[in-house]
Amino acid sequence: MELAQASLNAWTVKDLPLAALVDEARVRGFGGIAPWLETIAPVGAETAGRMIAESGLAVSSVCRGGFFPAATADGRRRAVDETRRAIDVAAAVGAPTLVVLPGGLPSPVRSAGDFVELGEARRQVADGLAACLDHAREAGVRLGLEPLHPMMAADRSVLCSLGEANDLIEELDDDALGLIVDVYHCWHDHALEREFARAGKRVLGVHLSDWVLPITGQLSSRGMIGDGCIDLVGTIDLARRHGYAGLFEIEVLSDRWWAEDPRDVVDVVVERWSTLAPVAP
Ligand code: ZN
Repeated sequence: MELAQASLNAWTVKDLPLAALVDEARVRGFGGIAPWLETIAPVGAETAGRMIAESGLAVSSVCRGGFFPAATADGRRRAVDETRRAIDVAAAVGAPTLVVLPGGLPSPVRSAGDFVELGEARRQVADGLAACLDHAREAGVRLGLEPLHPMMAADRSVLCSLGEANDLIEELDDDALGLIVDVYHCWHDHALEREFARAGKRVLGVHLSDWVLPITGQLSSRGMIGDGCIDLVGTIDLARRHGYAGLFEIEVLSDRWWAEDPRDVVDVVVERWSTLAPVAP
């Protein structure tokens, strides 16, 4: 596969500051990068936007906003405000999409005073998204809703499948809202193709890593592409066949790979990507 079809997600090499991330991606021939808010903050959004524009790299997305459920109205308002600020950052760096994570339960303990039921937390995600859509549209940024693996339902994402995310996207029915497909979270989904087809042009991003056993940290156990059981070429092919024209983000959140020199990690990403069979663009 051409590396120009891939985007280097900042958290794969999270120790690299933005300037080094841009350099690595440009020199190796990636099509773009996906900086996180934390990557952008040290230099500020305007400077970051200038650095990226001068490099010629695309920005596939900025990560992230969301985390909408909260036990109080104040907490929910804060999440909306933070997401609106993240939308502004995404716009300033030229990102077409802000990745939005739904958020988990405000408290994982039922007997706690601030416990929120799962159904109510899901409503709060819908309300939080709805409250950000005008701002996103005005900024020219789309919100990419990323459902996470069900093992994260209590702490990071009360939306646990592509189908559930697509239901909500259809309910809100707004051009500024779409879907992020991250294979780590949904590679096992029997409805993967159906939900890709259903989302169609509303797929705003595809995140690639791999599933390797054992899973020791639910967030940071992702495998390097090619090290596990996920059909990456098949997923890329599915995305292209159903109209996704964007870059494929290499997003390997991994204690194992974070322990390596980030430039060596980029070497491995580039080598593995080159071994993936080409898919019709
Ligand atoms: Zn992701």
